[in-house]
Amino acid sequence: IAKAHGAGSVQPFDPEFERQASERFELMQKLVTAIREQQFILHYQPQVDLQTGEVVGVEALIRWQSDEGMISPGVFIPLAEQSAYIHCIGDIVVNHACQAVQRLNAEGFEKMLVSVNYSARQLERADVFERLRVAYEAAGIERKRLCLEVTETAMMQSFYQVTALLEQHRSLGGTVAIDDFGTGMSSLEYLLELPADHLKIDIAFVSRLDMDERSRSLVRMIIALGQRLGISVVAEGVETEQQANWLRDNGCNIAQGWLFGRPMPLEDLIQWLHNRQQGER
Ligand code: C2E
Ligand code: MG
Ligand code: MG
Ligand code: MG
Repeated sequence: IAKAHGAGSVQPFDPEFERQASERFELMQKLVTAIREQQFILHYQPQVDLQTGEVVGVEALIRWQSDEGMISPGVFIPLAEQSAYIHCIGDIVVNHACQAVQRLNAEGFEKMLVSVNYSARQLERADVFERLRVAYEAAGIERKRLCLEVTETAMMQSFYQVTALLEQHRSLGGTVAIDDFGTGMSSLEYLLELPADHLKIDIAFVSRLDMDERSRSLVRMIIALGQRLGISVVAEGVETEQQANWLRDNGCNIAQGWLFGRPMPLEDLIQWLHNRQQGER
């Protein structure tokens, strides 16, 4: 290659690389400030039982309100994961989620689950369950009300280690969901041992439901798998009535997406839940 571009064309210093590295470094520094100054909030997105229309839970999704506006978790979570700061973020999320359970209880929504997302890196921490226990006990909430969402990909990275942790969590009454299911290349053998209460069909398949038969077949297969294993199936990213109807008719249990509700701050969620209850009467 060097020859093709003429001798001496290999640049030891790449300004583009330098730019990217310093951008990441700056963002990392801002992230540290954000943790110290508590610039994070959680939004909650409703999950609806497709048969009954009942709201059975909410997913907690973190938001960073930086000085320059909202930064999405897709940007800063991978960055945080490269350091121990991801554990600070995990603690923030769990504390908010426990408060959300308390608030839901106070408003009479005493059965709703609150799901939090945990990355592989977060589960690697030796005292992860001890910290969860402290959070539950401090908040005085039942363990089953908090659901851990772990992606299929994260699980595959160290299957036996992660499943052992999830089993431990479940044996103490905790709830587990496998997130982004269908994108993680689980071997069929692993599926038999999935330590999960919920399987969440990845948004990519749901958004393609109206477009191709292959996506429909795949979703049907995930639903059948859930039914066989006794694991309830949740569809993510449901945006249209058509998708919701198809999913319900094909046996999917729960749906989450803009059709039902966007992720929203806790107080907006409480209002939304009361409005929905009134609409039902
Ligand atoms: P996820 O857990 O798979 O979350 C689903 C994502 O889909 C969320 O994006 C949500 O806002 C979005 N979504 C929900 N309904 C719809 C819909 O109808 N249409 C479309 N197009 N999108 C919809 P968000 O909030 O940007 O989060 C992205 C990812 O960041 C999450 O994917 C999760 O992996 C990660 N994440 C979010 N919060 C946390 C957290 O507290 N901790 C960790 N470790 N990861 C988090
Ligand atoms: Mg999730
Ligand atoms: Mg997902
Ligand atoms: Mg995702």
